Amino acid sequence: MITFELAKEESLNNKQIKELQEEIRALAKQKNAVILSHYYQRPEVQDIADFVGDSLELSRKASQTDADIILFCGVRFMCETAKILNPTKKVLHPNPESGCPMADMITAKQVLKLKEEHPDAEVVAYVNTTAEVKAVSDVCVTSANAVKVVKKLESKKIIFIPDQALGNWVKKHVPEKEFVIWQGFCPPHFEFTARELQKLKEKYPDAKVAVHPECHPKIIEMADFVGSTSQIINYATTCDADRVIVITEVGLKHTLMKKNPNKEYIFPESMNYCGTVYCCTMKAITLPLVYKTLREEINEVILPEDIIEKARRPLERMLELS
Ligand code: SF4
Repeated sequence: MITFELAKEESLNNKQIKELQEEIRALAKQKNAVILSHYYQRPEVQDIADFVGDSLELSRKASQTDADIILFCGVRFMCETAKILNPTKKVLHPNPESGCPMADMITAKQVLKLKEEHPDAEVVAYVNTTAEVKAVSDVCVTSANAVKVVKKLESKKIIFIPDQALGNWVKKHVPEKEFVIWQGFCPPHFEFTARELQKLKEKYPDAKVAVHPECHPKIIEMADFVGSTSQIINYATTCDADRVIVITEVGLKHTLMKKNPNKEYIFPESMNYCGTVYCCTMKAITLPLVYKTLREEINEVILPEDIIEKARRPLERMLELS
């Protein structure tokens, strides 16, 4: 039996991790809870999830589940998305402090101002936005479906928020439309430098390079493949190279190794922050926090009803168009 004191500890040995994982799984069964985890979570957290996926896959799972509780191991906007898509469920977030810096780079007020300045444009919001921002947007996208969704929109002019890197990537693939792109960014992806990637390429000349579209355009230019986390998984585990340099959050390595352990996946790892791709807020969710949250049913995600109503439209439109 895991004691409450143990559940407060973050440094657990392997035996304690296993016990805690078993306790969490037993609690989930007892409470009819589904545990969803993003690929960027800690490996030991991913391992207790019913489903591990990217933003799009997790949105779909959250909208379809018949569990009573959705325990979401991801950053705040992901938990809000689960609540918006399935508002009758109790959605629990193991660490309410775990937010996405990029999502906080634009407010609903700023979006409304953009709409006033460009009344003929549709607002395309990356799913990495707050519920309030989604509520004033026309359609949501993820990195997996952004190009496809934007191509299908009737509007000739697009306000793309908040990620400049993904916005520029979409613009490149949809040249027939005009874009107004907000200058937000994902610190872990965008600050990884071309110099660091060049060093990796020189060290592993036989490796292919797969990168996430949140990376800086200079990194994207150097890549063999650009795609969302799920698309990177498919590419990296099936391409003809034995080694793949992967420029996205290091949590993805766990899934890649499980899917195809016969390849070598090289992630940038360095003591220098700019030489690594590590999301501190994703990693702010720990097994003890998951255990405490589920056991006590705390940290429930609560959103105003009018925000849920308004934010659901752009999300559902995304699911239809993708
Ligand atoms: S990896 Fe980037 S976009 Fe994803 S949660 Fe972290 S800061 Fe936000």
